[in-house]
Amino acid sequence: MRLEGQVALVTGAGRGIGRAIAMALAKEGAMVIVNFNGSQARAEEVVDQICKDGGKAEAVQCNVADHGACKMMIDDVIERFGRLDILVNNAGITRDNLLMKMSEEDFDSVIDTNLKGAFNCIKHVSRQMIRQKAGRIISISSVSGVMGNAGQANYSASKAGIIGLTKAAARELAKKGITVNAIAPGFIRTEMTEVLSDAVKTAVTENIPMKHFGEAEDIAQTALFLASAGAGYITGQVICVDGGMAM
Ligand code: NAP
Repeated sequence: MRLEGQVALVTGAGRGIGRAIAMALAKEGAMVIVNFNGSQARAEEVVDQICKDGGKAEAVQCNVADHGACKMMIDDVIERFGRLDILVNNAGITRDNLLMKMSEEDFDSVIDTNLKGAFNCIKHVSRQMIRQKAGRIISISSVSGVMGNAGQANYSASKAGIIGLTKAAARELAKKGITVNAIAPGFIRTEMTEVLSDAVKTAVTENIPMKHFGEAEDIAQTALFLASAGAGYITGQVICVDGGMAM
């Protein structure tokens, strides 16, 4: 198993892409902390499934937008397990609207969860990873952050921000043995995209060179690769997993 003995924290892992990443890391032997904000039952279901499959996992509540709460969650993981090897910043929300109609609250909440949440977790894990002289940090950006998307000024800004954060952190942490990369998914079949109307789904699919949405497992396999030994010389990169949308 590729990640035996390692401890991983996956934010927003109770469903969708985060769930698939947690399952993939656990399958390779990592002890996985399944973070959730509101969806406790779903996070516990993920933990039960991982344990049934012979893996190790625990569910931990934390709102990633809360700087102090992230510190408490990460300090607690380090105290209990003695290490933290992999951080996956997956937690994310959308509050879509046209720019002129977008409220300040909807702009701030998306930035606070998607971008500041990633900063909060990277900041608090980095000291331990520097001590270990090793670590993998993977953040989920989006094709909207790479290309921009009408109706998603807040979301696109947060996901473009993740790319800048990733590159800056990669430069700071490279000599400490820590890699920092981002994954930019295209349109993936989860609850986040399930709410799109059929008309929007059809229009979006037209713009995907591969002509279909991706699956959470497509992102999970990329995250697993970035967390594994084979990706040890890759840092500061944005891997687009989008059926060819951004090229
Ligand atoms: P999803 O099904 O809506 O799941 C979002 C997850 O984020 C949930 O587990 C949710 O947990 C968690 N979350 C939200 N706010 C949180 C907070 N403040 N603190 C902790 N956890 C929080 O979305 P998804 O499609 O799996 O998306 C996962 C990531 O991929 C997101 O960053 C998203 O922006 C990105 N992405 C998705 C797509 C796509 O097409 N689906 C494309 C590009 C990028 P609770 O329910 O417990 O709040």
